[in-house]
Amino acid sequence: MRKVEWHTVTPDLVARELDTDLKKGLSDAEVTTRLERYGENRISTKKRQSSLVRFLLQFHQPLIYILLAATGVTLLLGEYLDAAVIFAVVLINSIIGYIQETKALKAIDALSKSMSTNSTVIRNGKQMMINSVKLVPGDIVMVQSGDKMPADLRLIKIKDLQVDESALTGESVAVEKSTELVDAEAIIGDRKNLGFATTMVTYGTGKGIVVSTGDRTEVGKINQSIATAEELDTPLTLKIKNFSRVLLWVILSLAGLILVVAYLNGESLANAFMVAVALMVGAIPEGLPAAVTIMLAIGVAQMAKRRAIIRKLVAVETLGSTNVICSDKTGTLTENQMTVQKIMAGGELFEITGIGYKPEGKVLFEGEEVRMDNKPALQSVLRGGVLCNDSRIKEVEGRWISEGDPTEAAMISAAEKAGIEDHYIDHYYPRIDEIPFQSENQYMATLHKHEKNILFMKGSLEAVLKACSYMADNTGQSASIDKIKVEKAAEDMASGGLRVLAFAVKEFDPSKTRVSHDDVKEGMIFIGLQAMIDPPRKEAINAVKLCQQAGIGVKMITGDHALTAATIAAQLGLRGKTENGRLKSLTGVELQKISDEELPGVAEEVSVFARVSPDQKLRLVKALQAKNKVVAMTGDGVNDGPALKQANIGIAMGMAGTEVAKDASDMILTDDNFASIEAAVEEGRGVLDNLTKFIVWTLPTNLGEALVILASIIFATRLPLAPVQILWINMTTAVLLGLMLTFEPKEPGIMDRPPTPVNKPILTIPLIFRTLLVGTLIMLAAFILFRYEISIGADLPKAQTVATTVFIVMEAFYLFNCRSLRRSIKEIGWFSNMWVYYGAFAMLVLQLIFIHTSFMNNLFHSAPIGLSSWVRIMLAGLALFLIVFVEKMIRRKFTGTEEF
Ligand code: ADP
Ligand code: MG
Repeated sequence: MRKVEWHTVTPDLVARELDTDLKKGLSDAEVTTRLERYGENRISTKKRQSSLVRFLLQFHQPLIYILLAATGVTLLLGEYLDAAVIFAVVLINSIIGYIQETKALKAIDALSKSMSTNSTVIRNGKQMMINSVKLVPGDIVMVQSGDKMPADLRLIKIKDLQVDESALTGESVAVEKSTELVDAEAIIGDRKNLGFATTMVTYGTGKGIVVSTGDRTEVGKINQSIATAEELDTPLTLKIKNFSRVLLWVILSLAGLILVVAYLNGESLANAFMVAVALMVGAIPEGLPAAVTIMLAIGVAQMAKRRAIIRKLVAVETLGSTNVICSDKTGTLTENQMTVQKIMAGGELFEITGIGYKPEGKVLFEGEEVRMDNKPALQSVLRGGVLCNDSRIKEVEGRWISEGDPTEAAMISAAEKAGIEDHYIDHYYPRIDEIPFQSENQYMATLHKHEKNILFMKGSLEAVLKACSYMADNTGQSASIDKIKVEKAAEDMASGGLRVLAFAVKEFDPSKTRVSHDDVKEGMIFIGLQAMIDPPRKEAINAVKLCQQAGIGVKMITGDHALTAATIAAQLGLRGKTENGRLKSLTGVELQKISDEELPGVAEEVSVFARVSPDQKLRLVKALQAKNKVVAMTGDGVNDGPALKQANIGIAMGMAGTEVAKDASDMILTDDNFASIEAAVEEGRGVLDNLTKFIVWTLPTNLGEALVILASIIFATRLPLAPVQILWINMTTAVLLGLMLTFEPKEPGIMDRPPTPVNKPILTIPLIFRTLLVGTLIMLAAFILFRYEISIGADLPKAQTVATTVFIVMEAFYLFNCRSLRRSIKEIGWFSNMWVYYGAFAMLVLQLIFIHTSFMNNLFHSAPIGLSSWVRIMLAGLALFLIVFVEKMIRRKFTGTEEF
């Protein structure tokens, strides 16, 4: 390809240069060769920090500093073996951390790839949808509001096209595009006739020639030049980081103290240092950071199975604390399987039979099938429904499905039931211009060529009625409009839960071939209403119930009519403020009148919001957050972006959602179903639970180790645990025992309790108590058995091996206490998680190797122990299990819960 400045030349020249046809596009054969030449239209993933940097950053953690210092000290003391083991632990930790991080990054990449986008192209003279990665230079592409530009395009035809190019230029105001030629030296932001890959179409429609794809696009070039660090921190990991910073100082001061005391007690300086090192390595929960990342990653996988794709790791955790879900109605809470059931035309009411999109059914008037030629107004409403329409219905394997917007598909089916053929009228009324539907306008209009040009408009009753000064009577003649009567008819339909659309027409003189918003502001003739049923999803009814039981408020936020919304909300079982015996709903207009000070209170009470525009969604999220709510909010449209970003969990629709909405979200629903939100919340709670279990399990060990060392100082005995033995305990048990808690199934009744507050500290009173209890018990057992072994004549390695084994065995027993936070092991079932048994068994085998092989004996200063020692150790483990069992029982009795 020659280097052409695409913005400086005419579309014809661009087409010639790229050897393509502006009308017909490329042929399949040509596409194949070009795909080979230029490759797929993919932007290589952003350059990341190099692997080495990411690996080195693993050492940049306060607790690792301590271990590095310990390595240094032991090295200076000439304890090379100990130094090597401690450093090995640091290394293993960093390697695990690095692998985990790499996995998490890969998972995120894979997810973003799996969310592929489609483009509308013209190839072989036909319009078709293809996966955007298959685009090649020369393709003719159409984009519309909500799309991401799939490649760099030279625009050839546009209609009010506005593009948000902030991703590329940093300019946040949308750019109005044009097709005019631009000076060669214009900067990127001024090349108005180009569309740049990954920028977002915020308004209008456009058609363009693909001029470059993949890494040759403008963003592709930029992407290559900057390296980025991915954000993998979550509130919990941050809390843990802060916690470890505090721990760092506690450990250092304790170590200092111990150093002084041991030295004053007459120990050699070298020995005193070793004691301090032992304390330092013992008090650090080495396994914790890795466990957190692993558990969050497992959460991501679990949620993906339940149709919720996580885009940001932090969402896993936030989901567990979510306490309000604001959901769209149409398609999320309802089936989005629309069928027109009632029509009002020319002041008369008609009924339509049949279910789904299948175009089989009858149009009835007062119970009798109607003859269409007697009903000009009815014809006109149905025709309007077909013409002012961008969707299709089609039969696939015996099932009729909608292609495009279900609301519109329903109208096509209705018209075909009355014998009005889609293609037939398209042919007689070709479309020459349009105003596309946008949620905040609430209407759509199309201009058609006929004897006189005709403008059709369809939309919400409010939007359409405002523009009408006449209405068609039952003979099709225009007459004065009785707005009260029309509104009454619409309200009757809406209060039955039907979704109502209003229709209007206007004649245009043939010279006028463009339509603007001003043309549909007045002088329209109202022709009628079509009302369609969109039943609640069955799964949604159940999911709403589960959420409400779980203390999570569910709010419906919709663009639909207040009565329709309230009726469907009641059918879904939504709880909220009522008024005159029915659910209270607030409309966008009413919301506008409520001040920022009052809104939080109102938003908390009311659960149905109708005729809401996207900017009001943002206000609602903020109001709920002012009440300390953790808000999950769904969105699909272009203008939902800010609300999705503001929400604690922004949820985009995978099927109906625009690229803009997906980009702003934390989570994407692949099936657009409310039930999947509930499922994700459930999984999030499960992950939070398991994380807490791990923390509850791991902290007592560290405390116990620190206490044992303190005790040995106070009683001026030899160290019951050598530093390397402490590391052995911490590392092996974290992996073989602690991590098995990740496989703990969700606890029964996980959706029967209130959400965990996000700001809950890691160290709560019950957790501190439990840590003290178990830590002390382990310390006592280890210390007493250590002294006992010495007293019956064992040497230091043997006595230390007994102490080490006490820790390992007691932790294994305690693991079973930690399997549930709220229930006894009987309730969750002894064998509901076999992994803890496998882990405990593996741990036992490993410990036998530690005790009975000379290799390990050399490495860890361990020694074989006798059967009677084993018996004492096992009894200690069992005792711990029983004591905690009783503690749990007492606590359950007095506080009702066992929460930490
Ligand atoms: P929802 O929350 O139900 O998805 P929307 O914002 O999509 O609400 O729609 C708001 C209103 O706009 C609807 O109640 C309907 O009256 C009207 N409307 C919806 N879809 C279309 C369409 N394709 N063309 C014209 N009007 C529409
Ligand atoms: Mg909608």
